[in-house]
Amino acid sequence: MRPITSIAATRPLSKSAVRAVVAVTALALAGASLCLGASEATAAPVEGAACATKSSTQTLAAVAEGINATSCQAVGDYVEIDSSGGFYIPKAGEGTAVTATMADGSAVAIEVFTSTAGDVSLSVSGPSDSAVVKKAGAARDAARKKGQRWQGGSERPINVNSGAQKSSASTGQSVAAAVTRCSSSTYSTLKGKWHHNPYLIVNTSEGLPSGVKGSAFLQIARDSMNTWVNVTDACSVADSMTRTATIYENNYSNSNINGANNACASSSDGFHVVDFGNLTGGTVGLACSRYVWVLGWRTNEVDVRLDNSSRSWVTSTSGCTGSKYDVRSVLTHELGHFWGLADQYASSTSQLTMYGYSSTCSTTQRTLGKGDALGINALY
Ligand SMILES: [Zn+2]
Repeated sequence: MRPITSIAATRPLSKSAVRAVVAVTALALAGASLCLGASEATAAPVEGAACATKSSTQTLAAVAEGINATSCQAVGDYVEIDSSGGFYIPKAGEGTAVTATMADGSAVAIEVFTSTAGDVSLSVSGPSDSAVVKKAGAARDAARKKGQRWQGGSERPINVNSGAQKSSASTGQSVAAAVTRCSSSTYSTLKGKWHHNPYLIVNTSEGLPSGVKGSAFLQIARDSMNTWVNVTDACSVADSMTRTATIYENNYSNSNINGANNACASSSDGFHVVDFGNLTGGTVGLACSRYVWVLGWRTNEVDVRLDNSSRSWVTSTSGCTGSKYDVRSVLTHELGHFWGLADQYASSTSQLTMYGYSSTCSTTQRTLGKGDALGINALY
């Protein structure tokens, strides 16, 4: 068991959390209460919250009905939503967001947060035909039927945001209006953001797929990062983004991602890494963001992985054939998640970097659209 050293674990307000977790540190925290005014610290399940104790796994149904990670001893337990995705329950005051780009073209985001009082909430976003979205919605509906409600009448344990399915482009018929990367101002954000200038380590040695040289991968990472930092070529939207990021290279760091179930690993390792490695099923790329509650949800770790188990990749704009993916296009999209932007699903956003669908050999997402630029400026 790890010692309780994080800021989050030493800042709970609720009586139950203080009683259960940090009684020994409570005296030192008399001044902390002013820091926690938002609902993260106070929302709590009402009665009858499910709790599968003495099990190394908690169920989605239990989460939907409301569990307290502390009293259920659920911290670090894995919750499977679908064979292609799930999450580990964070400790009090921490959260994770996993955003996955799938080979069928769709994308899903799974965000899970444990309040400083220990209450677990989940947000699942994706197209309405996504298996993960369907299962999360079914669990939410089942909990509703059982009458589970959180204080204030909210149904906070599971929030499902389903977007449109990918529209068929095969008809060749004209659409209502021309969609360009500059025609949509739409963006949305994940829950957390950086409060300092982050770095990113590029593993330029391990797991590189054939055709991808380490030197090329490093350069692509620099270029993709600079696209966001400099708000490059973004439909005349001025660069007001105030953060920068440092790119490092090594040959041994790995993303803190559990490729076997496409989840953020069960605990933080403190390093921000992009690598090529194993992802399960139809996952092309995946970003895992970790948050800690300190006057809001602050990003404190992000890892990105590009799949080398079932995917082929190219680094050049020319010569892409078949079912290959453009490294820079996919990585620029994933780095949007690195900064805290969320996927978009509306067809009007189809030319944006943060569009939640990707296509083989497409380089569209290399270049920011208007919504992407407005989003990064708004975050930073
Ligand atoms: Zn995405």
